[in-house]
Amino acid sequence: GRAAPPDYDFFYLVLQWPGSYCDTRQSCCYPKSGKPAADFGIHGLWPNRDDGSYPQNCNPDSEFDPSKVSDLLSSLRAKWPTLACPTNDGLRFWGHEWEKHGTCASNVFDEHGYFQAALRLRDRLGVLRALAAGGVRPDGGYYTLDQIKGAIRDGTGFEPYVECNRDESGNSQLYQLYFCVNAAGDSLVECPILPRGRPCGSRIEFPAF
Ligand code: 5GP
Ligand code: 5GP
Ligand code: 5GP
Repeated sequence: GRAAPPDYDFFYLVLQWPGSYCDTRQSCCYPKSGKPAADFGIHGLWPNRDDGSYPQNCNPDSEFDPSKVSDLLSSLRAKWPTLACPTNDGLRFWGHEWEKHGTCASNVFDEHGYFQAALRLRDRLGVLRALAAGGVRPDGGYYTLDQIKGAIRDGTGFEPYVECNRDESGNSQLYQLYFCVNAAGDSLVECPILPRGRPCGSRIEFPAF
């Protein structure tokens, strides 16, 4: 039969700073492959609608199958590491993201295509390089939201939405970056709508990892 039309308008590509996942009250666990690189990792590629709503868990029959991404596993370990406890190898995180989000974009992605697209988009951005070029470094220092967004805009061509969390002492810090991707999943675009979230405050820590 004919494929169902997509039930979303664009994707959020969500990147996480491992230092800010780990230095919170909840702490973290390194994956079995070892401490990840001090770089932004992928959280997920999430289909989203222009009104802010989003589909999820679209196909319970499409269970994550690691054998379909065997050629991507070393890239996934390096660029999409899990930091949740208890320690595991990442398959659980990747499986969760595929089943909750990836299955809602089956009009453009099979499992392999979903992970490959997220990896390519992340590589194309080079966020850490862009931040460094703008003088924003993971040195435990404090930056303004405009410095962070400006450096990423100047270096990548795209301005992300910045999500902050709090370190153990309660300081607001750079946690996740939301970029937007067209419905075909192959190009970065300006965001049609920003995610709902809390303000980051005037001083944002960029902790080391
Ligand atoms: P949190 O409540 O921690 O922000 O989000 C929990 C989960 O809900 C996320 O990991 C993600 O799976 C989903 N989620 C939260 N906000 C959004 C959003 O704006 N768009 C989409 N597609 N998923 C979201
Ligand atoms: P979401 O539902 O928000 O897309 O994904 C978050 C889920 O993935 C949670 O169940 C969380 O415990 C799990 N998870 C595993 N590893 C990580 C990680 O490194 N970062 C985040 N944010 N969630 C992770
Ligand atoms: P404006 O539209 O003036 O840039 O921002 C309006 C409000 O949204 C302000 O409270 C500002 O702090 C917040 N805001 C703008 N961009 C971001 C962002 O990327 N992340 C977060 N957390 N808040 C933002």
